[in-house]
Amino acid sequence: MHSIKVIRKKARVFIIIGGAWGDEGKGKVAAFYAKIADLVIRATGGANAGHTLYINGHKVALHLIPGGIGYPGVICLIGQGVALDLDILFQEMEDLRNLGVLDAEERLKISGMATVLMPYHKELDELYERMRENKVGTTKRGIGPAYEDKVKRDGLLVYHLLDSLENLEAVIKNAVERHNILFRHYGMKEAVVDPHALAVKYHEYGERIKKMVVDGHNFVRGYVDDPTKTIVVEGAQAVMLSIETGNRPNYVTSSDSNINGTLSGAHLSWKDITEVILIYKAYLSRVGNGPFYTELPAHLDADGNLIPFAPEEAKIGDKLREAAGEYGATTGRPRRVGLYDILVGRYAVEVSGADYACFNHMDTIGKFALESNGGSISVVTSYKYRGEEINYYPFDTIYTHEVPEPCSVISIPGWVIEKGTHTYEDLPENAKKFIEVIEEYIGVPVKYIGIGPKNSDLIVRTDV
Ligand code: GDP
Repeated sequence: MHSIKVIRKKARVFIIIGGAWGDEGKGKVAAFYAKIADLVIRATGGANAGHTLYINGHKVALHLIPGGIGYPGVICLIGQGVALDLDILFQEMEDLRNLGVLDAEERLKISGMATVLMPYHKELDELYERMRENKVGTTKRGIGPAYEDKVKRDGLLVYHLLDSLENLEAVIKNAVERHNILFRHYGMKEAVVDPHALAVKYHEYGERIKKMVVDGHNFVRGYVDDPTKTIVVEGAQAVMLSIETGNRPNYVTSSDSNINGTLSGAHLSWKDITEVILIYKAYLSRVGNGPFYTELPAHLDADGNLIPFAPEEAKIGDKLREAAGEYGATTGRPRRVGLYDILVGRYAVEVSGADYACFNHMDTIGKFALESNGGSISVVTSYKYRGEEINYYPFDTIYTHEVPEPCSVISIPGWVIEKGTHTYEDLPENAKKFIEVIEEYIGVPVKYIGIGPKNSDLIVRTDV
């Protein structure tokens, strides 16, 4: 017996993951990488995520199609971890066509193993939310129920849509049996599914997407095994929203938006990774309910809705929200905001295996410190919890029912980032100090620094 050592040369694979509760500005880093990418993959989640892009000077919101489609020649893949709403996909394709992206159909690929989000999933979302005492704050886009069916092994795959009409109808019939009982029982008769009619519609959809459907695994391997290629995975949502590593059981999304789910959703393995990049803002934000220990006081009610207030009564959280423009892109809903929390940050690094971090909104927080926060900005480095000072993010609050409070903080004087700042060296000393403090605590280099809303407002450090 002799052993054979195979040296495999592989593509570069960059994976972008949200470091907290979403809306960290992943789009900007994804855009930076898309410029050098051959293949951009969307791995998890449904149309509750996505990016705003500028194509030919026009704004377009893409919730399912990877942002890489905005870059000529880049191939994009909707991976097997996605819950695919075809009505939204068709709308996005049309939006792209209207903006002059005429080859989107040739450049977009869809994994045959992706889960199809069906119209009855949206009806179920509505039904469950009505029945629930503790509102999760679902976006009512059917994403939770689509993943629920996947786990129940009743999910429809893209491949099913390419099968015969007869077989598709049988699969739908089986999938909706229990749903129809629920719809009838709870008086949602209009939601009861006719499997034949739905099969006819989705069989037609299958015909429309057929040319784009690929064998996800082999398709991605074709790139991974080619050392000249660069693959970028656009993570959706974030580590603290993951159904595996987030604020379970209630305050999470329905897929694993951390690294493991992102990898399998993109048809990749951990051995394929070149770099994992975790994206943060220089403060934190969160939509809807859920733990947020460094939240700043603001005029928001228990459901996160804005309580009207006179400008002179603004609390510090209101001021940061305004300064940062923290309102939901589609809903206009105000987001909760708070101080950067090292304990969340380090947890996210640990459970994602991040190589590098990005800190966005360094412009916002430096200015906010000077103009609204008495000249400085703090990051929280420990909590007071159960009578003690702790330096980790606790999950046992589920049964202790105690709320950790910020204990130690490090305060750094504010800064203004001048126009024309392009390098790390050019940043104000206090901004650099802020980054260095954070690096020391979270344990990975901050390679990317966001200094404004535009894609070009990104400093890429060459010294780390
Ligand atoms: P995602 O949900 O993580 O993909 O977040 P987006 O990419 O949609 O970004 C959220 C918003 O933050 C967008 O309006 C961006 O323009 C804005 N943004 C991102 N980075 C920065 C930054 O460094 N400074 C400022 N002022 N705005 C930023």
